[in-house]
Amino acid sequence: MIFDFFVAVMNTNISDLQSRLANPQDIVILTHRNPDGDALGSSLALALYLRQSLHQVSVILPSEYPLSFSFLPEVDQCLVYDFEPEECIQKIEKSTMIFCLDFNGLDRIDKLGSHVEKSSAYKVLIDHHMHPEPFADYTLSETTASSTCELIYRFLELLKDQRAITVDIATCIFTGLITDTGSFKYATTDRTFEVAAHLKRFGVDDYTLQDRIFNTYSERQLRLLGHCIYNRMEILPEYKTGIITLTKEDYKTYEIVRGDTEGIVNYLLKLNGIKVAAFITEQPTIVKLSLRSKGEFSVQEIASKHFNGGGHRNASGGSAYATLNSVVDRFKQVLPKYAEKYF
Ligand code: 5GP
Ligand code: MN
Repeated sequence: MIFDFFVAVMNTNISDLQSRLANPQDIVILTHRNPDGDALGSSLALALYLRQSLHQVSVILPSEYPLSFSFLPEVDQCLVYDFEPEECIQKIEKSTMIFCLDFNGLDRIDKLGSHVEKSSAYKVLIDHHMHPEPFADYTLSETTASSTCELIYRFLELLKDQRAITVDIATCIFTGLITDTGSFKYATTDRTFEVAAHLKRFGVDDYTLQDRIFNTYSERQLRLLGHCIYNRMEILPEYKTGIITLTKEDYKTYEIVRGDTEGIVNYLLKLNGIKVAAFITEQPTIVKLSLRSKGEFSVQEIASKHFNGGGHRNASGGSAYATLNSVVDRFKQVLPKYAEKYF
């Protein structure tokens, strides 16, 4: 396997990285487009930690973050490439270190990818997606980790610097734990709960955090969820699959903004007997797929082989330049092969 070879040659020796961090650096932290709780939590936790030393630290997001995360500490200091491309490129060009968090390949950060590739800065990749690209000078990649946030905690352990964890840092890390595990429902290990317990000892108010993240729907959003389930849901019992689609019209009618559709795909898995869920949406120029599954069924395989995407076995995404109907048809066409393999 070519990827095993890559993993084998990836540098995982932290001493070089540690000695660089002993001197002030110009640091850029990057995460993936449409940042979620794990992307934001890991980036902000690392930024807060690094800002305790004499480093200059910028967090760069390829696109805007959902409003529901506005309460996260220092999130308003993030630079958004879609709004300030020149400033973001300049920051990357003058950086001495670049941290890439919660993504496994440079195509996940759009146009910023080529600037990172060109840069001679020392690069660090911390991520939990399958098949990481070997572009970094130091890589911490564990696909069994619940979240990149869990790996940030591990990174601080490797640096022997857990004492630097403040309540704000702990809150950011906890955010990724709960958002990437659906509040500890999936992708957990014993380690995830250990980290959560440590973070709670560092002062995380987990009740308030969950309330702020998950219970801030507007009336419009709750009605959108109702619309998806009542009018846009299709069940294919023979393939244990549910599909929800949203058209451009729906985006207008429900005034959908970034983050509004987060988590809708998971409602399909609440159905008894349903093991595969697809949320397929018509965006301005592409059709986006958000896929989820239970157990051995690998939506990662479907996303990477048919929809130019990837992710994890049970949570993946992809996209296609095609009409909504043709993407739904393609998904239905490939489904029987995987149903045969996994069911
Ligand atoms: P979501 O469905 O929540 O957007 O994403 C689920 C998982 O799939 C996340 O881990 C995300 O990083 C990954 N993912 C989503 N869209 C894409 C894509 O277009 N390409 C790749 N490689 N991964 C994606
Ligand atoms: Mn993640």
